[in-house]
Amino acid sequence: MPVWRGWDKIKYQAQLDPAFAEEVTSIPGGEKLFDCIQCGTCSGLCPLSPYMDFTPRKIIAMIRAGFKGEVLSSHTCWLCASCYACTVECPKGVKITEIMYATKRLAIREGVSPKRFAIPVLAEEFFRDVESNGRNSEGRLIMKLYLKTNPFKALKQATLGLRLWSQGRLGIRSDSIKRKSELKTLLKSLEKERMVRSRRETAHAGEAK
Ligand code: SF4
Ligand code: SF4
Repeated sequence: MPVWRGWDKIKYQAQLDPAFAEEVTSIPGGEKLFDCIQCGTCSGLCPLSPYMDFTPRKIIAMIRAGFKGEVLSSHTCWLCASCYACTVECPKGVKITEIMYATKRLAIREGVSPKRFAIPVLAEEFFRDVESNGRNSEGRLIMKLYLKTNPFKALKQATLGLRLWSQGRLGIRSDSIKRKSELKTLLKSLEKERMVRSRRETAHAGEAK
């Protein structure tokens, strides 16, 4: 999926993805996307909005308009602290926090989350470790985080890391659970159930129109 950056530049209708809004509304929590009246309450309340590239209100408008690349590659959803202030105060009951979660999941699935940004890198590496080993190892997670975001910082922290490791405070070996195949079966069935539910909800949304 081409990622178009530059909100200040012109984007033509043909470059938008009209199916994006439907994709988000089909995810649990995204159903009320089109109820938004663009009042801006969410952006005014959000404690993190000054640091976001697009405020929550803008994200809702952009999803509806089909700015898929911009939304999924933005830092906004990764900065969301899940405080639920926006969701509680939204006059139209839009579940903005759930929409933030939905965009995170879609960004990871499509491989367009911001590179070298610590939060998505940490989330992806954490999930990958748990998915393949059943648990994560702190030391390996920290190493991967540094290597994928700022390897120079890893060099600076090397002495501290070695000291912690020599005192047994930082493990670098990968921990693993027994019967990993059972975990894989469980995760696979959860993913299957999620897809079935998502298809069912899309069908219901289509019937309701
Ligand atoms: S508070 Fe609700 S209705 Fe207002 S802009 Fe945010 S999502 Fe839309
Ligand atoms: S849940 Fe996220 S988007 Fe909503 S107010 Fe809190 S930090 Fe902002």
